[in-house]
Amino acid sequence: MRIILLGAPGAGKGTQAQFISEKTGATPISTGKIIRAAVKNGTPAGLAAKEYIDAGRLVPDEMVIEMLKERLCEDDCKDGYILDGFPRNISQALALEKMGIEVDIVIDILVFDSDVVERLCGRRVCNNCGATYHVETKPSLKGKLCELCDGTLITREDDKPEIVLERLRVYHAETEPLIRHYNAQIKLRTMRSFPTIEDTANGVLAILGESAV
Ligand code: ADP
Ligand code: ZN
Repeated sequence: MRIILLGAPGAGKGTQAQFISEKTGATPISTGKIIRAAVKNGTPAGLAAKEYIDAGRLVPDEMVIEMLKERLCEDDCKDGYILDGFPRNISQALALEKMGIEVDIVIDILVFDSDVVERLCGRRVCNNCGATYHVETKPSLKGKLCELCDGTLITREDDKPEIVLERLRVYHAETEPLIRHYNAQIKLRTMRSFPTIEDTANGVLAILGESAV
């Protein structure tokens, strides 16, 4: 089974991808995570990607598509996957189709722009394992350290307020048109992002149940 998660930055795609993975065994794949790992490892692609990420812009299609192709060849993708953060524009969606990949459902997670700003600006991430927290809604029990690995919690460069606004602008301009694209393919399911992870997960469960995946 292959699922695409659509939705603005901060809609909770990463968390729900993890949840769906636990329920179905499909592998969660986040292009944001893949790109950040490349940046951290200092690969040529990573170095080139960094300026785009930090500015809240999309990394060029060729780069992301290449990284995704490689990832999808790995063994753990054989029994299905959940794409979080890809495709992010129409040309990436067409690239996926050109690769011969048929997705089963596309779940669009709706969230208000004002909630996005609040969520992302308060988000903290572990600089070691990538676990996410929020200063108000999900603080770490270990204060400034990660509960899971004792790594240091930091604010992502692109979670700074002016960059969050730019990411939202890019989302509306480039990613939102995908809603119509997948609706036309009768693959689209729409749900709301709730303030709690559990309520949002229930929305996801309802969709998975209806789709019998
Ligand atoms: P969010 O969904 O919260 O914005 P991600 O971790 O998915 O966070 O993405 C962070 C950044 O990585 C994006 O702002 C963009 O620069 C880059 N990125 C991730 N996925 C893609 C993609 N499919 N195409 C282009 N850039 C991407
Ligand atoms: Zn950690």
